[in-house]
Order: sequence, then C-alpha cells, then structure tokens
Amino acid sequence: MIPDNITKYLQDKMGVEATNSVPVSGGSINQAAKVETRSGIFFLKWKRDAPERFFEAEANGLKRLREADSPLRVPKVYTYESDAGGYGNFILMEFIETGGGSDPSSFGAGLAALHTVTSNQFGLDEDNFIGSLPQRNRRHPEWSSFFIEERITPQLTMAVDSGKMDRQDVKNWQRLADRVDDMFPASKPSLLHGDLWGGNHLYDRNGKAVLIDPAVYFGHPEADLAFTKLFGGFQRSFYQAYESVNPLDPGFEERVPVYNLYPLLVHVNLFGGHYIRQCKTVLSRY
Ligand code: ADP
Repeated sequence: MIPDNITKYLQDKMGVEATNSVPVSGGSINQAAKVETRSGIFFLKWKRDAPERFFEAEANGLKRLREADSPLRVPKVYTYESDAGGYGNFILMEFIETGGGSDPSSFGAGLAALHTVTSNQFGLDEDNFIGSLPQRNRRHPEWSSFFIEERITPQLTMAVDSGKMDRQDVKNWQRLADRVDDMFPASKPSLLHGDLWGGNHLYDRNGKAVLIDPAVYFGHPEADLAFTKLFGGFQRSFYQAYESVNPLDPGFEERVPVYNLYPLLVHVNLFGGHYIRQCKTVLSRY
C-alpha cells in the first residue's frame, strides 16, 4: 500500500526491500505505515501535495529534540525526500513499538527538562509547519511580540482572508494584543515541542514517553503546557511532575485560553467547523 516510488527509493537508495507494510492511522495530515524489511522496521509518513520543505522541517525538528538530550525519547530520522528528488514527499524514521504502559510523571518531568534548553531569542533559525500550515519563526527578543507577530497575526489574517473570521474578531484581537505583554510572566526562550496535543506523544515498550510530530521553536514554556489542555488527555501526575521541576507562575490557568488562541486558529484554518465559534468566543472575552 505504500506508493511505488517510495518502495523504489528504499530499494535503489537504501538497498532495503519492504516485505510488508501496515497502514498506521491516527494522524490528521499525512498517510503513514509501518514498513517491515529484512533490515528492520521503519515508520514511513508521506503526503502527495506537501508544501516545499515539509518533511525536511519535521526531520530538523525531531533532530533538535533528540539533540536536546532530555529524558524524552524522540524517533531517529533515517531520511526524508521531497518531490524534487523524484520519489515523492516522505519521511522515514525509527518505528516506535508501543504497549509497555505509560508513565505520565516521567513525561511531565521530561518535558520540564526539555524546557531547560534555552536560546537568547524567541523563534528559530528556520520556518517550519504546524499541521500542514506554515509556521513563521522570525526571531524576537520579547515573547509578546513573537506571539503577536509570528503566531496570532499570520493565522488570523489567513482566517479573515478565507472568510472564517471577520473584522470584529480582528478588533477583539487588537484589544487583547495590547494587553498580552502584561499578561505573560517573564521567561527565557525555551525549546518547545510546539504541537503538543495528546496525539503527538507515544509511550514505548518500556513505558517511556516519546515525542512525535513536532512544530519546534524557542517559545514560552507555558505555551506547550497550555497546548496539552486544548483537547485534554494528560493526567494530573503529568502536570504535578512538570511543576515539581519547573513551577508555573500564578494565574497560568487564566492564560491558557490566550496561548491556545494559536492552535485554535490553526484548527480554524485547517478544519473550520465548530472551531470558528470557539475561537470567536475566546476573542470576545477580552
Ligand atoms: P500526522 O503528521 O499525519 O499528524 P503523526 O506524525 O501524528 O501523523 O503520526 C500518525 C500516527 O502514527 C501517530 O498518531 C502515531 O500513532 C503513529 N506514529 C507516529 N510516529 C511513529 C513512530 N515513529 N513509530 C511508530 N508509530 C508512530
């Protein structure tokens, strides 16, 4: 079931013959499969109409998370290709076997450890993607200007241009934008997963937490934690363990909807539907 050109790539470029492939569901953007070969088992993800640099950006993000050397496991990437190479758009990485139970405490503590990797500016040295949408990471010395200019404004503009959000929403956002600098507590720019909903982590055979499908950048650590609360699914012990390493400033819960305007707008732009009303409601509250 994997595309012929990828099977050919495995043979021609890697000398690997796929003996079996099993579709893997759960992603919202790409097609994926577990690929069995005589040289081992791989996880393959592909997308026919991927934007330029799509899987390169994912590979770079995973590499950066691996190099952070936190207690969290991150799959090793073997290769990625784009249409330009003639084999289609795909990424090939280590297959993570699951089924060893879960350990939310070590996940929470591991995420706090990841957040101790810092930079001198918010942003990243390259742009990447969130879902299939572009994510711009121009560097800013202040979190508030990064959040306004690189996160909310591009997504809100996209939503207005497609008619999903309107002028009143923009007005409401401008009112909130004037106040965000006072809302966010000071923090160093921390290495974030960047797309930390429940579907973007696994637990391996040893119950160790594994980060997948990131949209990395150096940001406010509260943004990663707020993301976990957008759809839920993270246990109390995860938050307790996180806070035992990296205590949150007072008022975090009230800031969560502000951070989550970003993933919410991403969902408005990707899927529309009920996310539009939800986003308008948050904006009208400020
Ligand atoms: P998408 O980019 O489409 O959102 P994901 O990267 O989230 O796709 O992957 C889809 C699903 O595949 C995940 O929900 C997870 O269950 C599984 N998965 C992702 N990466 C791996 C991996 N390295 N090994 C095994 N399974 C994986």
